[in-house]
Order: sequence, then C-alpha cells, then structure tokens
Amino acid sequence: MARERQHSPRTGDGGMSRRSLLGRSAAVAAGATALTATAAGPAAAAATRDVDVAIVGGGLAGLTAARDLVAAGRTVTVLEARDRVGGRVVNLPLANGGVTEGGGEFIGPTQDRVKALADSLGVATFATYNTGKNLLYKDGRKTPYATDGLLGSVPPVDVAGLANAAIVQASLDDMARTVPVDAPWTAAKAAEWDKQTFESWLNANAVVPSAKFLLDVACTSIFSAEPRELSLLFVLFYIAAAGNESTPGTLERLTETANGAQELRFVGGSQLLPVKLAASLGERVVLNAPVRTIVRSGGRYVVTADGITVTAKRVVVAVPPPLAARIRYEPLLPAARDQLTQRLPMASVGKAIAIYDTPFWRADGLNGQVVSDTGVISSTFDNSPPDASYGALMGFIEADEARKLDAASEAEVRAAVLKDYVTYFGDKAASPSSFVLQRWNNEAYTRGGPVSIAAPGVLTQYGPALRAPVGGIHWAGTETSVHWMGFMDGAVRSGERVAKEVQAVL
Ligand SMILES: Cc1cc2nc3c(=O)[nH]c(=O)nc-3n(C[C@H](O)[C@H](O)[C@H](O)COP(=O)(O)OP(=O)(O)OC[C@H]3O[C@@H](n4cnc5c(N)ncnc54)[C@H](O)[C@@H]3O)c2cc1C
Repeated sequence: MARERQHSPRTGDGGMSRRSLLGRSAAVAAGATALTATAAGPAAAAATRDVDVAIVGGGLAGLTAARDLVAAGRTVTVLEARDRVGGRVVNLPLANGGVTEGGGEFIGPTQDRVKALADSLGVATFATYNTGKNLLYKDGRKTPYATDGLLGSVPPVDVAGLANAAIVQASLDDMARTVPVDAPWTAAKAAEWDKQTFESWLNANAVVPSAKFLLDVACTSIFSAEPRELSLLFVLFYIAAAGNESTPGTLERLTETANGAQELRFVGGSQLLPVKLAASLGERVVLNAPVRTIVRSGGRYVVTADGITVTAKRVVVAVPPPLAARIRYEPLLPAARDQLTQRLPMASVGKAIAIYDTPFWRADGLNGQVVSDTGVISSTFDNSPPDASYGALMGFIEADEARKLDAASEAEVRAAVLKDYVTYFGDKAASPSSFVLQRWNNEAYTRGGPVSIAAPGVLTQYGPALRAPVGGIHWAGTETSVHWMGFMDGAVRSGERVAKEVQAVL
C-alpha cells in the first residue's frame, strides 16, 4: 500500500487506540486491528490519507467492495461511524459466554454471494432449528401445526382463508415475474402498481379476513412495515429480487424456513463475516469515523469524517439511503438523487432474545416458531446455538409495535416481550437467565431496519437515481442490489457490483 499515507495520532498502546477495537467479543476474537483517528481527543490533528477509493460504511457492502478493490490492486480506506464493523449485522455477547445476533442472521437458497463469502472466510453454517411444530396464536387460541404437509409453514386458518391466501400468493408471484429486478420502474404495469399501497391491493384481493391476516403477518415479518406503508410495485420488486440470476424470486422463499430465507445460520454468529473481512483489511478500516462531508475538489474528492480526512479519486457510499442523505455533498447532489433518499425511510424493527438454561419448548414438540395476531412479538424463532447448550428464543418487534415501544424503557419492553413468550410457550418462559434487546430505530447509524422501504410513487419517479453514480460518487448497500435487496446477500452483491463499477473507471 505504498500510496496510502497514514498519520494517525498514537495513543501509547502500540498504535491501537483505546476505542478502536472492532467492538465486542467476537471482533476482538478475530484479532482485527483497525485504527481510529479520534482517540487522542479533540486537540489532536486530524489524520489524513490519500487513496484511490474512500468507502463510507463498514457494513457487509462497504467491506466487500474494499476486499475486491484491494484484490484489484487499489488503495482504499473504509470509514465506519461506529466502534465496530458490520452495521445491521451484530453479535451480542451473552452472560453465559455465548453470542446471539441482534440484526441480520439467516441465509437461504439462492443467496449465493453471502454463502460464498462465508465459505471464503471459513465461517460454517448450520440449519435453523425447525424440528417439531410451529405455533399459531390467533383469536386467543393456540394451535400447534406440522409444517411438512402441503401447506408448508402456512398457518392453518379456515379453509376459505387458506384458499384465498393461495390465490393471492400465486397472483403476487405472477405479477412479480413481470418486474425487471434491475429496473422495476420499467415493468409494463409499473405505473398502475406504483400508485397503490400493498394495503389497498390486499383489501381488494385478500377478501377473506383470515387470508388478510396471513398476508399482513407475512408483510410485517418480511419488511417490518405495515402494508399501508408500501407501494405494491415495491413489494413485487422485493419478491422478484428474492432469487438469483437463474431462479426467479417467490413470496414463499421470503417467508419459509426450510428452503427459504430463514434456512441456515452462521456458526459463531453472522458478525463473524464483517469482522473477518475487516481483519483481512487491517488498518484500511477506520472506526469511530462518521463521514460528515464529501466535497469534490479539482479532480478528486475530500471525504471528511470525525478525526480523519481522506482524499480519493472515487468514493463509494455504502450506507442505507436515509443515512447517505445525512452527509453534506459539495457540489449538491442532483435533485432526483436527493429526493429519492428523502423518500426511502427505514422500516421499524427490534429483536428481543430471551436466554434459558435449555430450549425447553423442544420437549413440548415445538420448534420455537410462532405466528401471532396479537402482542408485541408476532413472530419468533429458536435462536439456540447448534449444540443446544442453552436455549434462546428470538422475537421480532416490528412496524407499529416497534414504533409504540421506541420510547419505552428496556424494563418495559422486557416485560411486554416475556408476557408474549409466556402466552406462547408457558410459564417456563417467564424467567430467562438473561435478556438481550436490540432496537434498531434508536441506533444513530441505522435508525430502523431491516431495510429502506418505498411508498407509492417513489420507484417510478426516482428509481433510476438509486444506483446511478454522481460524478465520482458510487452507491452501494443492500438497498442497491438487484437480488436479495434488504438481505446480507444483497449487501455482498452490491459491494461486488460497485467494486467492478469503480474499477472500470479508475
Ligand atoms: C433486525 C434485523 C434483522 C435482519 N435479518 C436478516 C436476516 O435474517 N438475513 C439477512 O440476510 N438479512 C437480514 N437483515 C438485513 C441485513 O442485516 C442487511 O441487509 C445488511 O446487513 C446490510 O448491509 P449494508 O452493508 O448494506 O448496510 P449496513 O449494515 O447498514 O452498513 C452500513 C454501515 O455504514 C455505517 N454508517 C452509516 N452512516 C455513516 C457515515 N455517515 N459515515 C460512516 N459510516 C456510516 C453504519 O454504521 C454501518 O456500519 C436484518 C436486519 C435487521 C436490522
């Protein structure tokens, strides 16, 4: 890295700042040694670097882009706002020495790029626990049901509802097949589909109340958003994107555990992926460095973060669109790009994980997966480790339920969540040995999740600005991916795509 100059204030601890370790136990275990420029305090001179490509954001997208550009012989600096890498992927340490995942966790078929990344980093996968019955909690009644029948994991509501839901699902898949994943706004019916919400379409098509319930639950579990918040075209694009170059996406692949997006997990937790990627990049990754401005100056870009300034030929912005909009750009971005990012809010999500001495629900013949019409938590998973040395129940707090709790204390959220777990799994659920909560709406550098969402009118008006570079500024992040947008796989794909894009013009 001969052309990379590093002038980082030293902290007297061997060059590694007090605040610079990648954060949390998993990162430390990986032995990464990224530097931060801010640890010496406000009086220290800002560090400077001069590289080919400055990358904003040390999530899977930014780190993948960095890996590929370095492999192509380019110099890079990744500027990451947090004190850890991984963004929406985070391992949370447990009191019992284990880890659990507070963000992205599952992968499944056709998510080839994140699987290839894991293989290359030596991170193994294991099957999400899926033995035994799912549980439907509806109208105050618990119904355990097997998932190996014709319906798969579709909850056994009344026959009329199941028939209606099957027709709705087939229609959505049929419509999604006509949506080009690289330009959904060019679909033949794009205008018609982008002027209505998913809610209004469901009201006209999921006419049996129990079918509407099934589709509502599917919507909140996939997007952590209510159907009223989403453009029908956006939903169809998301379904279309749930596949790869040879296998079209389907709604079923988004919702299922076996053969679906929830099929596999990573041994040691998903954050091992970004942590290991960052470790291989070493001091190219700078933590605690939120980027504030990107200024074009002559033929180059000056990227200013807290404590460090990087000059570069090209910039990759690999943060979610609403966060990208919080950076100041000079000259101003084109109006279409700025208006786009004004209109792609993050959905609303939290995760609550209760830890028990054993996964006791398994002895009751349950696999830990719940679908519910009530409560703070309407969908759960068994998040126990592969050796089941302890039990972990993970529940999603989604959409309206997440927003209701944004200002609640952790104790209040814990009480509400455990009340639901007791309803679903009985009294043993009342007293976990520990309880972990991750509330993405309250995270400064994410502000929601799992993904940015689009209301009517956004894709058809502003879609073309999603990936189009602006001068030397290129856009990455899962939201820019044509396959598995919203997922870890999409993030990796976007990093690979943007590295090629930049490489072609450097
Ligand atoms: C609760 C939850 C559950 C999920 N479940 C799954 C799942 O099971 N499977 C799956 O595949 N996906 C899942 N996802 C989605 C998945 O985590 C994301 O799609 C993926 O991690 C996005 O990666 P990214 O690199 O595009 O963005 P991010 O991970 O958001 O990375 C962006 C990075 O940029 C940093 N940043 C932001 N602003 C600045 C700035 N100004 N300067 C410098 N850095 C900045 C952030 O700190 C962050 O590290 C889930 C997400 C959440 C929140």
